[in-house]
Amino acid sequence: MRLHEYQAKEVFADAGIPTPEAELATSVDEVVAVAERIGYPVAVKAQVHVGGRGKAGGIKLAEDVEEAEDVAEDILGMDLKGYKVDKVLVEEAVDFVDELYVGITLDRGEGKPVAMVSTEGGVNIEEVAEENPEAIAREHIDPAFGLHAYQARKVVYDAGVPRELARDVSSVLQTLYDLWESNDASDAEINPLMVTSDDDVVAADAVLNIDEDALFRHPDLAEMEEEAAEDELEAKANEYGFDYVRLDGNVGIIGNGAGLVMTTLDLVDYYGGEPANFLDIGGGAKAERVTNALDMVFSDENVDAVVFNIFGGITRGDEVAKGINEALEQFDEIPKKVVVRLAGTNAEEGREILNDELVTVEETLEGAVQRAVEYAEEAE
Ligand code: GDP
Ligand code: MN
Repeated sequence: MRLHEYQAKEVFADAGIPTPEAELATSVDEVVAVAERIGYPVAVKAQVHVGGRGKAGGIKLAEDVEEAEDVAEDILGMDLKGYKVDKVLVEEAVDFVDELYVGITLDRGEGKPVAMVSTEGGVNIEEVAEENPEAIAREHIDPAFGLHAYQARKVVYDAGVPRELARDVSSVLQTLYDLWESNDASDAEINPLMVTSDDDVVAADAVLNIDEDALFRHPDLAEMEEEAAEDELEAKANEYGFDYVRLDGNVGIIGNGAGLVMTTLDLVDYYGGEPANFLDIGGGAKAERVTNALDMVFSDENVDAVVFNIFGGITRGDEVAKGINEALEQFDEIPKKVVVRLAGTNAEEGREILNDELVTVEETLEGAVQRAVEYAEEAE
């Protein structure tokens, strides 16, 4: 579960990490009221689950009332990489001289948490990790002992953080580890940790992902989860009873069974495509479920082509094929190309039933995935 920035900042602030004064707003009037209370300049920040909000126009500064109104109008209601913005965080703008990165995550390879620090904080730490990995210093943590002060100082020095900041950054890092641990988090990240001209550090952004399976131990966080699940598609998936995860790519994926869907995801990646989602429609793929699944991938603006991968067990191929036909016949024009691969019980009958004016039928999974990746590239 991923918390919103404003929620993560609450948790960070409660733990003692310095955060800018801020309040959530959902209308232009509220933005102005909060800005007037906090004092200008303020930063107005879209609260949606996408990275790189700054670059995408989801974060803007306002110096006075007029600007606050303008940016609030721009950001509230905007579409940010497929997510509609309905809340913003209005925050005291930080006057910064430098941007650092600090984070705690689980290193699955080592089987240990790892603390990470970099002086190349700011917009894109993933790029830094790829192009210049030595710019991120790392220190593994023994969970039985936690992050020792000497380890925190070591990783901070290794990263090249200036001496006068080392104490404060180390302390933030230790606090971050403690809250990561006590909240059963999978990732806790501050990017940027801003440095002011007085050598103070402030968490200007906050990421906190919680292990879903541990939520029962954290009723306060579970409550936040309800608020955080504002994504329209995820809400739709809940309503339809699908297991659904939204991803960044443009190849929509529908399958029955988690393993089958995962395999399809891997193959899309293998053939050079990028999956747009994980969508498991479960057993008994009746027409209505098929229609609902197609509704989900078609209403995802990022999807350029769809691959349908069904293995018939109890679900019969001919039933699924009828469902797909029925679902697609409702459209005057099919919005995105659909490739279908049917296997298992009555697969052959199913393939015959499928209307190839509506879908592309492929016999093999590899063929279907390659075809969908091609379609997606053409449609881009
Ligand atoms: P992200 O792009 O979604 O990760 O959002 P961030 O909260 O990390 O903000 C991205 C960038 O916007 C930061 O690195 C800053 O350069 C800028 N920014 C964010 N908040 C402030 C602020 O309060 N003051 C100033 N001057 N810039 C800010
Ligand atoms: Mn950030």
